[in-house]
Amino acid sequence: MSRHPLYKTARWRKGRLAHLRAEPLCRLCRQRGLLNDGSLTLAGDSQSNRRRRFLVVDHIVPHRGDLDLFWDTTNWQTLCPDHHDIIKQREEVRGYSNERGPDGWPIDPAHPANR
Ligand SMILES: [Zn+2]
Repeated sequence: MSRHPLYKTARWRKGRLAHLRAEPLCRLCRQRGLLNDGSLTLAGDSQSNRRRRFLVVDHIVPHRGDLDLFWDTTNWQTLCPDHHDIIKQREEVRGYSNERGPDGWPIDPAHPANR
């Protein structure tokens, strides 16, 4: 997977760390009642693979190079590697995110409901 050059900027590195300080647990695990700081599997067991022990700062709406979406911190969420993989695989197949806003409406402009 190629990473966008924006991820190499000092601004991203700093912003990412600030986000992880503010949200140090996987958001989707937390919604399921699991407090995962990146050291657990989806089942809540200790992650035995050390290379899978980290947290991802993910863009809820895929930015696809859009600078406003990329730097909008309200579009950032902390995910464990397992949740990140699951979400990214679904998005790649479908081409859009199914994430919904507080009003229940899909927030990805590429979602069919927004086209
Ligand atoms: Zn998770």
